[in-house]
Amino acid sequence: MIASSATGSAAGSKPGLRREIAGVSIADLAEQYGTPLYVYDADTIRRRCRDLAAWDTIRFAQKACSNLAVLGIVRREGVLVDAVSTGEIHRAIVAGYSPHAPREPGPDGLPPAHPIVYTADIFDRDSLDVVVRHGIHVNCGSADMIEQLAERMPGASITLRVNPGFGHGHSQKTNTGGEGSKHGIWHEEIPEVLRRAEWAGLQVSGLHMHIGSGTDLAHLAEVAGALERVAIEVGRSLTMISAGGGLPVPYKPGEVHADLSGYFTLWDATRKRLEERFGHRIRLELEPGRYLTAESGSVITEVRAVKRQGDRKYLLVDAGFNTLARPVLYGSYHPMSLCPRDDDARNATEEVAVGGPLCESGDIFTQTDGGFVATRPLPVAAVGDLLVIEIAGAYGFVMASNYNSKPLPAEVLVDAGAHRLVRSRQTPEDLVRGECV
Ligand SMILES: *Cc1c(COP(=O)(O)O)cnc(C)c1O
Repeated sequence: MIASSATGSAAGSKPGLRREIAGVSIADLAEQYGTPLYVYDADTIRRRCRDLAAWDTIRFAQKACSNLAVLGIVRREGVLVDAVSTGEIHRAIVAGYSPHAPREPGPDGLPPAHPIVYTADIFDRDSLDVVVRHGIHVNCGSADMIEQLAERMPGASITLRVNPGFGHGHSQKTNTGGEGSKHGIWHEEIPEVLRRAEWAGLQVSGLHMHIGSGTDLAHLAEVAGALERVAIEVGRSLTMISAGGGLPVPYKPGEVHADLSGYFTLWDATRKRLEERFGHRIRLELEPGRYLTAESGSVITEVRAVKRQGDRKYLLVDAGFNTLARPVLYGSYHPMSLCPRDDDARNATEEVAVGGPLCESGDIFTQTDGGFVATRPLPVAAVGDLLVIEIAGAYGFVMASNYNSKPLPAEVLVDAGAHRLVRSRQTPEDLVRGECV
Protein backbone atom coordinates (compact mmCIF):
# COMPACT_ATOMS: atom_id res chain seq x y z
CA MET A 1 0.00 0.00 0.00
CA ILE A 2 1.19 3.48 -0.83
CA ALA A 3 0.48 6.25 1.67
CA SER A 4 -1.87 8.96 0.47
CA SER A 5 -0.09 12.12 -0.63
CA ALA A 6 -0.89 15.22 1.40
CA THR A 7 -3.90 16.74 -0.27
CA GLY A 8 -5.15 18.61 2.77
CA SER A 9 -3.30 21.39 4.50
CA ALA A 10 -0.04 22.32 2.86
CA ALA A 11 3.12 21.24 4.64
CA GLY A 12 4.16 23.68 7.32
CA SER A 13 0.75 25.25 7.91
CA LYS A 14 -1.62 24.46 10.78
CA PRO A 15 -4.08 21.59 10.55
CA GLY A 16 -7.18 22.62 8.66
CA LEU A 17 -5.51 25.77 7.34
CA ARG A 18 -4.31 26.13 3.79
CA ARG A 19 -3.07 29.13 1.83
CA GLU A 20 -1.85 27.71 -1.48
CA ILE A 21 -2.79 25.32 -4.26
CA ALA A 22 0.31 24.00 -6.05
CA GLY A 23 2.28 27.09 -5.06
CA VAL A 24 -0.41 29.63 -6.01
CA SER A 25 -2.10 31.79 -3.37
CA ILE A 26 -5.72 30.79 -2.79
CA ALA A 27 -6.60 34.36 -1.82
CA ASP A 28 -5.15 35.62 -5.13
CA LEU A 29 -7.14 33.05 -7.12
CA ALA A 30 -10.37 34.08 -5.36
CA GLU A 31 -9.57 37.74 -5.89
CA GLN A 32 -8.83 37.37 -9.60
CA TYR A 33 -11.49 34.85 -10.68
CA GLY A 34 -14.20 35.17 -8.02
CA THR A 35 -15.92 32.40 -6.06
CA PRO A 36 -17.12 29.68 -6.16
CA LEU A 37 -14.22 28.53 -8.31
CA TYR A 38 -12.89 25.18 -9.50
CA VAL A 39 -9.09 24.94 -9.52
CA TYR A 40 -7.14 22.01 -11.03
CA ASP A 41 -3.47 21.26 -10.46
CA ALA A 42 -2.00 19.98 -13.75
CA ASP A 43 0.91 18.16 -12.10
CA THR A 44 -1.38 16.01 -9.97
CA ILE A 45 -3.22 14.87 -13.12
CA ARG A 46 0.09 14.04 -14.85
CA ARG A 47 1.29 12.11 -11.80
CA ARG A 48 -1.87 10.01 -11.75
CA CYS A 49 -1.55 9.25 -15.48
CA ARG A 50 2.06 8.12 -14.93
CA ASP A 51 1.05 5.84 -12.03
CA LEU A 52 -0.76 3.69 -14.60
CA ALA A 53 2.04 3.49 -17.18
CA ALA A 54 2.17 -0.34 -16.98
CA TRP A 55 -1.13 -0.66 -18.86
CA ASP A 56 -1.02 -0.77 -22.70
CA THR A 57 -3.79 1.81 -22.90
CA ILE A 58 -5.14 4.22 -20.32
CA ARG A 59 -8.50 5.46 -21.53
CA PHE A 60 -9.79 8.47 -19.58
CA ALA A 61 -13.50 8.25 -18.74
CA GLN A 62 -13.90 11.96 -19.43
CA LYS A 63 -17.31 12.16 -17.80
CA ALA A 64 -15.36 12.57 -14.52
CA CYS A 65 -13.90 15.93 -15.65
CA SER A 66 -14.24 16.90 -19.28
CA ASN A 67 -12.84 20.44 -19.44
CA LEU A 68 -10.85 20.81 -22.66
CA ALA A 69 -7.72 21.85 -20.75
CA VAL A 70 -7.88 18.63 -18.71
CA LEU A 71 -8.40 16.58 -21.88
CA GLY A 72 -5.37 18.35 -23.35
CA ILE A 73 -3.20 17.40 -20.37
CA VAL A 74 -4.14 13.72 -20.43
CA ARG A 75 -3.80 13.59 -24.23
CA ARG A 76 -0.24 14.86 -24.02
CA GLU A 77 0.41 12.12 -21.45
CA GLY A 78 -0.55 9.55 -24.10
CA VAL A 79 -3.91 8.80 -22.48
CA LEU A 80 -6.81 7.97 -24.84
CA VAL A 81 -10.42 8.85 -24.16
CA ASP A 82 -13.86 7.36 -23.62
CA ALA A 83 -17.00 9.24 -24.66
CA VAL A 84 -20.50 8.43 -23.41
CA SER A 85 -22.39 10.98 -25.51
CA THR A 86 -22.25 13.06 -28.67
CA GLY A 87 -21.10 16.00 -26.58
CA GLU A 88 -18.16 14.01 -25.21
CA ILE A 89 -17.16 12.91 -28.73
CA HIS A 90 -17.21 16.58 -29.71
CA ARG A 91 -15.05 17.54 -26.72
CA ALA A 92 -12.52 14.80 -27.53
CA ILE A 93 -12.17 15.97 -31.14
CA VAL A 94 -11.85 19.64 -30.14
CA ALA A 95 -9.20 18.64 -27.56
CA GLY A 96 -7.12 17.15 -30.40
CA TYR A 97 -8.00 13.45 -30.43
CA SER A 98 -8.25 11.80 -33.83
CA PRO A 99 -11.44 9.75 -34.36
CA HIS A 100 -9.48 7.02 -36.18
CA ALA A 101 -7.04 4.39 -35.00
CA PRO A 102 -3.74 3.97 -36.87
CA ARG A 103 -4.01 1.12 -39.39
CA GLU A 104 -0.82 -0.73 -38.48
CA PRO A 105 0.08 -2.40 -35.20
CA GLY A 106 2.51 -0.41 -33.04
CA PRO A 107 6.17 -1.34 -32.41
CA ASP A 108 4.98 -3.47 -29.46
CA GLY A 109 3.11 -5.72 -31.91
CA LEU A 110 -0.19 -4.86 -30.23
CA PRO A 111 -3.28 -4.17 -32.31
CA PRO A 112 -3.81 -0.39 -32.71
CA ALA A 113 -5.99 1.37 -30.15
CA HIS A 114 -8.92 3.62 -31.02
CA PRO A 115 -8.19 7.14 -29.70
CA ILE A 116 -11.90 7.74 -28.99
CA VAL A 117 -14.39 5.03 -28.02
CA TYR A 118 -18.14 5.63 -27.65
CA THR A 119 -19.40 3.56 -24.69
CA ALA A 120 -23.13 3.56 -24.03
CA ASP A 121 -26.19 1.36 -23.57
CA ILE A 122 -28.05 3.13 -26.36
CA PHE A 123 -27.54 5.18 -29.50
CA ASP A 124 -29.76 8.19 -29.39
CA ARG A 125 -30.37 9.27 -33.00
CA ASP A 126 -27.83 12.05 -32.68
CA SER A 127 -25.00 9.86 -31.36
CA LEU A 128 -25.55 7.24 -34.07
CA ASP A 129 -25.19 9.98 -36.72
CA VAL A 130 -22.01 11.33 -35.13
CA VAL A 131 -20.44 7.89 -34.64
CA VAL A 132 -21.08 7.06 -38.31
CA ARG A 133 -19.91 10.45 -39.59
CA HIS A 134 -16.54 10.20 -37.80
CA GLY A 135 -16.15 6.40 -37.90
CA ILE A 136 -15.85 6.24 -34.09
CA HIS A 137 -15.35 2.83 -32.47
CA VAL A 138 -18.36 1.66 -30.43
CA ASN A 139 -18.46 -0.29 -27.17
CA CYS A 140 -22.02 -1.70 -27.11
CA GLY A 141 -23.89 -2.04 -23.82
CA SER A 142 -27.11 -3.37 -25.39
CA ALA A 143 -27.60 -5.93 -28.14
CA ASP A 144 -30.03 -3.63 -29.98
CA MET A 145 -27.11 -1.33 -30.79
CA ILE A 146 -25.64 -4.07 -33.01
CA GLU A 147 -28.27 -3.98 -35.76
CA GLN A 148 -28.61 -0.21 -35.49
CA LEU A 149 -24.88 0.18 -36.13
CA ALA A 150 -24.65 -2.58 -38.76
CA GLU A 151 -27.27 -0.84 -40.89
CA ARG A 152 -25.19 2.35 -41.00
CA MET A 153 -21.61 1.00 -40.75
CA PRO A 154 -21.59 -2.43 -42.38
CA GLY A 155 -18.61 -4.60 -41.42
CA ALA A 156 -17.56 -2.45 -38.44
CA SER A 157 -15.76 -4.01 -35.51
CA ILE A 158 -17.24 -3.49 -32.06
CA THR A 159 -16.46 -4.22 -28.45
CA LEU A 160 -19.05 -5.47 -26.00
CA ARG A 161 -19.64 -4.06 -22.54
CA VAL A 162 -20.59 -7.06 -20.44
CA ASN A 163 -22.49 -7.05 -17.16
CA PRO A 164 -20.80 -9.92 -15.30
CA GLY A 165 -23.81 -10.44 -13.00
CA PHE A 166 -22.24 -8.64 -10.03
CA GLY A 167 -21.18 -5.08 -9.28
CA HIS A 168 -19.93 -2.77 -6.56
CA GLY A 169 -19.60 0.99 -5.96
CA HIS A 170 -19.12 3.58 -3.22
CA SER A 171 -22.89 4.05 -3.35
CA GLN A 172 -25.82 2.00 -4.70
CA LYS A 173 -26.09 4.73 -7.34
CA THR A 174 -22.56 4.07 -8.63
CA ASN A 175 -22.87 0.27 -8.78
CA THR A 176 -22.92 -0.64 -12.47
CA GLY A 177 -23.10 -4.45 -12.43
CA GLY A 178 -25.59 -7.12 -11.35
CA GLU A 179 -29.35 -7.33 -11.84
CA GLY A 180 -29.79 -3.92 -10.20
CA SER A 181 -27.85 -2.23 -13.00
CA LYS A 182 -29.08 -1.26 -16.46
CA HIS A 183 -25.53 -1.31 -17.82
CA GLY A 184 -23.91 -3.73 -20.21
CA ILE A 185 -24.96 -6.95 -21.89
CA TRP A 186 -25.96 -9.63 -19.39
CA HIS A 187 -23.20 -12.27 -19.26
CA GLU A 188 -25.56 -15.17 -19.98
CA GLU A 189 -26.76 -13.46 -23.16
CA ILE A 190 -23.32 -13.42 -24.77
CA PRO A 191 -23.74 -16.50 -27.03
CA GLU A 192 -26.98 -15.05 -28.40
CA VAL A 193 -25.40 -11.61 -28.88
CA LEU A 194 -22.43 -13.14 -30.71
CA ARG A 195 -24.88 -14.80 -33.11
CA ARG A 196 -26.62 -11.47 -33.66
CA ALA A 197 -23.30 -9.75 -34.37
CA GLU A 198 -22.27 -12.45 -36.84
CA TRP A 199 -25.65 -12.27 -38.57
CA ALA A 200 -25.32 -8.48 -38.81
CA GLY A 201 -21.77 -8.81 -40.19
CA LEU A 202 -19.98 -7.11 -37.27
CA GLN A 203 -16.70 -8.34 -35.75
CA VAL A 204 -16.46 -8.53 -31.95
CA SER A 205 -12.87 -7.38 -31.34
CA GLY A 206 -12.94 -6.67 -27.64
CA LEU A 207 -14.60 -7.01 -24.25
CA HIS A 208 -15.12 -4.46 -21.51
CA MET A 209 -16.47 -4.70 -17.97
CA HIS A 210 -17.01 -1.78 -15.60
CA ILE A 211 -18.74 -2.85 -12.39
CA GLY A 212 -18.89 0.45 -10.53
CA SER A 213 -17.31 3.66 -9.41
CA GLY A 214 -15.24 4.15 -6.27
CA THR A 215 -15.22 0.46 -5.35
CA ASP A 216 -12.28 -1.45 -3.85
CA LEU A 217 -9.66 -3.61 -5.50
CA ALA A 218 -10.97 -6.86 -4.00
CA HIS A 219 -14.27 -6.36 -5.85
CA LEU A 220 -12.53 -5.10 -8.99
CA ALA A 221 -10.27 -8.15 -9.04
CA GLU A 222 -13.29 -10.47 -9.46
CA VAL A 223 -13.87 -8.85 -12.85
CA ALA A 224 -10.72 -10.39 -14.38
CA GLY A 225 -11.99 -13.95 -13.91
CA ALA A 226 -15.47 -13.09 -15.21
CA LEU A 227 -14.02 -11.38 -18.28
CA GLU A 228 -11.74 -14.33 -19.05
CA ARG A 229 -14.71 -16.73 -19.10
CA VAL A 230 -16.61 -14.52 -21.55
CA ALA A 231 -13.46 -13.98 -23.68
CA ILE A 232 -13.22 -17.72 -24.29
CA GLU A 233 -16.80 -17.67 -25.60
CA VAL A 234 -15.94 -14.84 -27.99
CA GLY A 235 -12.85 -16.62 -29.30
CA ARG A 236 -10.07 -15.61 -31.68
CA SER A 237 -11.60 -12.38 -33.00
CA LEU A 238 -10.68 -10.84 -29.64
CA THR A 239 -7.75 -8.38 -29.71
CA MET A 240 -8.55 -6.08 -26.75
CA ILE A 241 -9.78 -6.45 -23.19
CA SER A 242 -10.70 -3.57 -20.87
CA ALA A 243 -10.75 -3.70 -17.09
CA GLY A 244 -13.06 -0.65 -16.99
CA GLY A 245 -12.64 2.05 -14.37
CA GLY A 246 -13.66 2.29 -10.75
CA LEU A 247 -10.21 2.71 -9.16
CA PRO A 248 -10.71 4.15 -5.69
CA VAL A 249 -9.26 7.43 -4.44
CA PRO A 250 -8.53 8.25 -0.79
CA TYR A 251 -11.06 10.89 0.31
CA LYS A 252 -11.17 10.46 4.09
CA PRO A 253 -8.31 11.02 6.53
CA GLY A 254 -6.37 7.78 6.96
CA GLU A 255 -7.43 6.31 3.61
CA VAL A 256 -4.53 5.33 1.34
CA HIS A 257 -3.99 4.64 -2.35
CA ALA A 258 -4.68 1.07 -3.44
CA ASP A 259 -1.96 -1.35 -4.58
CA LEU A 260 -2.13 -0.82 -8.30
CA SER A 261 0.85 -2.99 -9.21
CA GLY A 262 -0.89 -6.09 -7.84
CA TYR A 263 -4.01 -5.14 -9.76
CA PHE A 264 -2.06 -4.79 -13.01
CA THR A 265 -0.30 -8.15 -12.44
CA LEU A 266 -3.64 -9.89 -12.09
CA TRP A 267 -4.98 -8.44 -15.35
CA ASP A 268 -1.71 -8.96 -17.18
CA ALA A 269 -1.84 -12.66 -16.27
CA THR A 270 -5.42 -12.86 -17.60
CA ARG A 271 -4.31 -11.21 -20.84
CA LYS A 272 -1.32 -13.55 -21.21
CA ARG A 273 -3.48 -16.66 -20.79
CA LEU A 274 -5.81 -15.37 -23.51
CA GLU A 275 -2.87 -14.56 -25.80
CA GLU A 276 -1.59 -18.10 -25.37
CA ARG A 277 -5.00 -19.59 -26.09
CA PHE A 278 -5.65 -17.45 -29.19
CA GLY A 279 -2.07 -17.25 -30.49
CA HIS A 280 -1.99 -13.47 -30.94
CA ARG A 281 -1.35 -10.30 -28.94
CA ILE A 282 -4.16 -8.74 -26.90
CA ARG A 283 -4.24 -5.11 -25.85
CA LEU A 284 -4.96 -4.49 -22.16
CA GLU A 285 -6.88 -1.32 -21.38
CA LEU A 286 -7.81 0.46 -18.16
CA GLU A 287 -10.54 3.11 -18.10
CA PRO A 288 -10.19 5.34 -15.05
CA GLY A 289 -12.14 8.53 -14.53
CA ARG A 290 -12.01 9.53 -10.88
CA TYR A 291 -8.46 8.25 -10.36
CA LEU A 292 -6.92 10.66 -12.87
CA THR A 293 -8.56 13.91 -11.78
CA ALA A 294 -10.20 13.70 -8.33
CA GLU A 295 -7.16 14.77 -6.31
CA SER A 296 -6.19 17.55 -8.73
CA GLY A 297 -9.37 19.57 -8.14
CA SER A 298 -10.54 21.93 -5.41
CA VAL A 299 -13.50 24.25 -5.01
CA ILE A 300 -12.68 27.65 -3.54
CA THR A 301 -15.71 29.16 -1.88
CA GLU A 302 -16.22 32.15 0.42
CA VAL A 303 -17.78 32.05 3.87
CA ARG A 304 -20.74 34.46 3.71
CA ALA A 305 -22.49 33.77 7.04
CA VAL A 306 -21.66 32.11 10.36
CA LYS A 307 -24.66 31.24 12.48
CA ARG A 308 -26.04 29.06 15.22
CA GLN A 309 -29.21 26.97 15.02
CA GLY A 310 -29.73 25.86 18.63
CA ASP A 311 -26.58 23.98 19.57
CA ARG A 312 -25.26 23.58 16.04
CA LYS A 313 -23.00 26.04 14.28
CA TYR A 314 -23.23 26.53 10.51
CA LEU A 315 -20.84 28.06 8.01
CA LEU A 316 -22.76 29.15 4.93
CA VAL A 317 -20.62 29.49 1.84
CA ASP A 318 -21.28 30.69 -1.72
CA ALA A 319 -20.96 27.18 -3.25
CA GLY A 320 -23.90 24.80 -3.05
CA PHE A 321 -24.94 21.48 -4.52
CA ASN A 322 -25.34 23.39 -7.76
CA THR A 323 -21.52 23.69 -7.58
CA LEU A 324 -20.57 20.27 -6.16
CA ALA A 325 -23.31 17.66 -6.02
CA ARG A 326 -21.51 14.60 -4.62
CA PRO A 327 -22.41 15.19 -0.94
CA VAL A 328 -26.15 15.56 -1.65
CA LEU A 329 -26.21 12.77 -4.26
CA TYR A 330 -24.12 10.17 -2.45
CA GLY A 331 -23.42 11.50 1.05
CA SER A 332 -19.80 11.79 -0.11
CA TYR A 333 -17.08 13.10 2.16
CA HIS A 334 -14.78 15.87 0.89
CA PRO A 335 -11.87 17.15 3.00
CA MET A 336 -12.02 20.90 3.71
CA SER A 337 -9.49 23.53 4.73
CA LEU A 338 -9.85 27.15 5.72
CA CYS A 339 -7.89 29.98 4.13
CA PRO A 340 -8.33 33.02 6.41
CA ARG A 341 -8.55 36.40 4.66
CA ASP A 342 -6.03 37.86 7.05
CA ASP A 343 -2.89 36.48 8.67
CA ASP A 344 -4.72 35.49 11.86
CA ALA A 345 -3.30 32.47 13.61
CA ARG A 346 -6.75 30.80 14.04
CA ASN A 347 -5.41 28.33 16.56
CA ALA A 348 -8.79 27.15 17.80
CA THR A 349 -10.96 24.67 15.93
CA GLU A 350 -14.69 24.00 16.34
CA GLU A 351 -17.31 21.58 15.07
CA VAL A 352 -19.34 23.12 12.25
CA ALA A 353 -21.82 22.08 9.60
CA VAL A 354 -21.09 23.58 6.17
CA GLY A 355 -23.93 24.55 3.84
CA GLY A 356 -24.53 26.51 0.67
CA PRO A 357 -26.86 29.25 -0.60
CA LEU A 358 -29.66 27.17 -2.16
CA CYS A 359 -33.29 27.23 -1.05
CA GLU A 360 -33.14 23.55 -0.18
CA SER A 361 -32.38 22.00 3.21
CA GLY A 362 -30.28 19.29 1.54
CA ASP A 363 -27.74 21.93 0.50
CA ILE A 364 -25.15 20.72 3.01
CA PHE A 365 -21.58 19.64 2.27
CA THR A 366 -21.12 17.89 5.61
CA GLN A 367 -23.83 15.28 5.22
CA THR A 368 -23.72 11.52 5.45
CA ASP A 369 -25.43 8.95 3.21
CA GLY A 370 -29.17 9.30 3.86
CA GLY A 371 -28.97 13.09 4.10
CA PHE A 372 -28.14 13.48 7.81
CA VAL A 373 -26.41 16.76 8.68
CA ALA A 374 -23.01 16.12 10.26
CA THR A 375 -20.32 18.46 11.53
CA ARG A 376 -16.62 18.79 10.89
CA PRO A 377 -13.80 20.21 13.04
CA LEU A 378 -12.52 23.31 11.24
CA PRO A 379 -10.50 26.33 12.34
CA VAL A 380 -12.82 29.03 13.69
CA ALA A 381 -14.07 30.89 10.61
CA ALA A 382 -15.28 34.41 9.94
CA VAL A 383 -17.26 35.94 7.10
CA GLY A 384 -14.88 36.67 4.23
CA ASP A 385 -12.62 33.66 4.87
CA LEU A 386 -12.21 31.19 2.04
CA LEU A 387 -13.10 27.54 2.44
CA VAL A 388 -11.38 25.01 0.17
CA ILE A 389 -13.37 21.85 -0.61
CA GLU A 390 -10.77 19.30 -1.69
CA ILE A 391 -10.56 16.20 -3.91
CA ALA A 392 -13.32 17.72 -6.02
CA GLY A 393 -11.75 17.17 -9.47
CA ALA A 394 -13.91 14.16 -10.40
CA TYR A 395 -17.71 14.33 -10.74
CA GLY A 396 -17.42 17.93 -9.56
CA PHE A 397 -17.85 20.63 -12.20
CA VAL A 398 -19.34 18.12 -14.66
CA MET A 399 -22.30 17.61 -12.31
CA ALA A 400 -22.75 21.32 -11.55
CA SER A 401 -26.13 22.76 -12.49
CA ASN A 402 -28.03 26.01 -12.90
CA TYR A 403 -30.44 25.15 -10.07
CA ASN A 404 -31.77 28.31 -8.38
CA SER A 405 -30.57 30.09 -11.55
CA LYS A 406 -27.02 30.07 -10.30
CA PRO A 407 -24.35 30.48 -13.00
CA LEU A 408 -21.89 27.61 -13.56
CA PRO A 409 -18.62 28.46 -11.80
CA ALA A 410 -15.35 29.33 -13.53
CA GLU A 411 -12.57 26.74 -13.87
CA VAL A 412 -8.85 27.56 -13.52
CA LEU A 413 -5.79 25.46 -14.27
CA VAL A 414 -2.63 25.82 -12.19
CA ASP A 415 0.51 24.62 -13.95
CA ALA A 416 4.17 25.25 -13.09
CA GLY A 417 3.28 28.01 -10.64
CA ALA A 418 1.13 29.87 -13.20
CA HIS A 419 -2.66 29.94 -13.42
CA ARG A 420 -5.11 30.52 -16.25
CA LEU A 421 -8.85 30.57 -16.78
CA VAL A 422 -9.98 27.44 -18.69
CA ARG A 423 -13.70 28.12 -18.51
CA SER A 424 -15.27 31.46 -17.70
CA ARG A 425 -18.03 31.86 -15.17
CA GLN A 426 -21.50 31.99 -16.71
CA THR A 427 -23.13 35.39 -16.95
CA PRO A 428 -26.79 36.34 -16.32
CA GLU A 429 -27.23 36.41 -20.15
CA ASP A 430 -25.94 32.81 -20.35
CA LEU A 431 -28.63 31.80 -17.87
CA VAL A 432 -31.52 32.87 -20.11
CA ARG A 433 -29.95 32.05 -23.51
CA GLY A 434 -32.44 30.30 -25.78
CA GLU A 435 -35.47 31.28 -23.68
CA CYS A 436 -38.16 33.78 -24.63
CA VAL A 437 -40.90 35.60 -22.81
C1 LIG B 1 -17.91 6.23 -15.26
C2 LIG B 1 -17.23 5.22 -16.08
C3 LIG B 1 -15.87 4.94 -15.88
C4 LIG B 1 -15.03 5.61 -14.85
O1 LIG B 1 -15.38 5.34 -13.55
P1 LIG B 1 -14.44 5.87 -12.37
O2 LIG B 1 -15.02 5.30 -11.15
O3 LIG B 1 -14.52 7.36 -12.41
O4 LIG B 1 -13.06 5.37 -12.66
C5 LIG B 1 -15.27 4.03 -16.72
N1 LIG B 1 -15.97 3.42 -17.70
C6 LIG B 1 -17.27 3.67 -17.93
C7 LIG B 1 -17.96 2.99 -19.03
C8 LIG B 1 -17.93 4.56 -17.12
O5 LIG B 1 -19.23 4.80 -17.35
